[in-house]
Amino acid sequence: MSEPILIDTGKSRTGWSFWGPAFTCDQLWKFIQVDQVKFGSADALTQGSMGHTLLAHYLVRTEAQRGGIEYEGEWIEDPDYFLDPEEAVREWARRREAEGVEAACFIGNTLTLFTEYRRREPVIRDRVHAVETLAKLTLGYDKLGRFGLWIDEKLKDPLVLDCPALGDGHPNVPALKHGHPIEVTKRFDAVMDHRNDGRRYIHDHKITAGGVGKSRAEQYSMDGQFAVNRIAGRQMYGDAFGGVVLNLVQRRSPWTVSKQFVPPTPARDAAFAGQIYRKAHDLANLLVHEIDDPKAAIWPMTQNELVCYHRYGKCGAFERCQYGD
Ligand code: SF4
Repeated sequence: MSEPILIDTGKSRTGWSFWGPAFTCDQLWKFIQVDQVKFGSADALTQGSMGHTLLAHYLVRTEAQRGGIEYEGEWIEDPDYFLDPEEAVREWARRREAEGVEAACFIGNTLTLFTEYRRREPVIRDRVHAVETLAKLTLGYDKLGRFGLWIDEKLKDPLVLDCPALGDGHPNVPALKHGHPIEVTKRFDAVMDHRNDGRRYIHDHKITAGGVGKSRAEQYSMDGQFAVNRIAGRQMYGDAFGGVVLNLVQRRSPWTVSKQFVPPTPARDAAFAGQIYRKAHDLANLLVHEIDDPKAAIWPMTQNELVCYHRYGKCGAFERCQYGD
């Protein structure tokens, strides 16, 4: 038998980590995408990734054992096709350490999280349909001539980025090129068939040191990544699609696990494709100036006290905006 595999839980190229900051602040997006500055707590991101790895292996192995699960086009009935959750976390950390990222120091806490998670949810009662599924949506028209973001099976005419001055774009931003399709991708953490209504829900794990109160789902509901989940989920799963669930998992005492249905946002979802189209073209125009003369290029700054200094603290670029590079 071949070696057990480590599931890829990494970011997708044009996922919400690409688009999201542009809807927060153009200047912030420029720092992240063009200048390739890394903001935010690297430790929090590392712990989040380790938690995602743990849960993916736990869920997929459970379902393989219960009768089988499809993974990357193959039907898998042997749980040992995948690393066991603890080994997966160790292997993930080993690979990051080899790249110079501090990860081994978080193994102990992640394994405690696993023990506490199973104490709170000893049985996975929903059926695991899939883990870490990559969805791709492209802007354009479907077979009925409707404008939107479509999975490949529904897409008829892609609408390309129209900005001749951009040409092949900026080397650090390969997702935006004149004449190329505009895409939004998303990795679904888990897709679960609910034990009560049998409908299919996309579960989004949030491994957090913060609160897990009941208002969290409403706070997240307007976040664009949940529109992507819903738009792709509806197309991929049709009438079986039930919605999106936030799986909040605390990585500290009291280790609460809180599953919350994310309220729908139909008006925003209907506007979402247009928002992406508009944003892609605004960014393309800004990139033209950036390529032409980086010193003279002006990137709009949000300059708002609640955005520049939010509930987790200062925007990572605060000092850059305050004093310059
Ligand atoms: S500090 Fe404010 S203006 Fe500067 S990048 Fe952050 S959000 Fe934008």
